[in-house]
Amino acid sequence: MTANRAISWLTAVLVLFLAAAAFVLSYDVLRALALENGVNPRLAWLWPLTLDAFMLAASLAVLRGHLNGEGTWYAWALVFVFSAASVAFNVVHARNGFLSRAIFALPPAVVFLAFHLLMRMVERSVSRSQRDREREAALAERRRAAAERKANAPDPLPFKCGAPGCDRAFASQQALAGHQRAHNEREG
Ligand SMILES: [Zn+2]
Repeated sequence: MTANRAISWLTAVLVLFLAAAAFVLSYDVLRALALENGVNPRLAWLWPLTLDAFMLAASLAVLRGHLNGEGTWYAWALVFVFSAASVAFNVVHARNGFLSRAIFALPPAVVFLAFHLLMRMVERSVSRSQRDREREAALAERRRAAAERKANAPDPLPFKCGAPGCDRAFASQQALAGHQRAHNEREG
């Protein structure tokens, strides 16, 4: 494994851990908020998912759209609306004061940012391996074309001597004739 790859993996693992940590923090706040506001206690665990998990699902739809060259504006709009809603609901739960609000705003923002960092890494690595494949295919095609040209090229020395033990060849009939005369003189 190259250093580059090792760093990529380490970064991905760290970012995934941070996204998960932020998700849990945001989840806890949103669940408490749902309970405080009268959501059925047996179902309150589901409520946070309608925000953060939906944002993650929409983010994956963005990634899929990018990789397939499809439009992504609708998925992007969902990502932004649901990220903003998650931040807003988390902030509602904070005590008054900037510090408290900032503390509660951080986890949902990190869920969004970390997950998108991860998606960018995936997208880059997919398009990089696609580029590598394309480059290899172009190289193979060039090599094949060169081999074909070489195979089809006319022999520059079509006149072979043919005498036993002689592998000389010549560009013209006259040159070959001169060479064969030399053979005959030597032998005769
Ligand atoms: Zn010869």
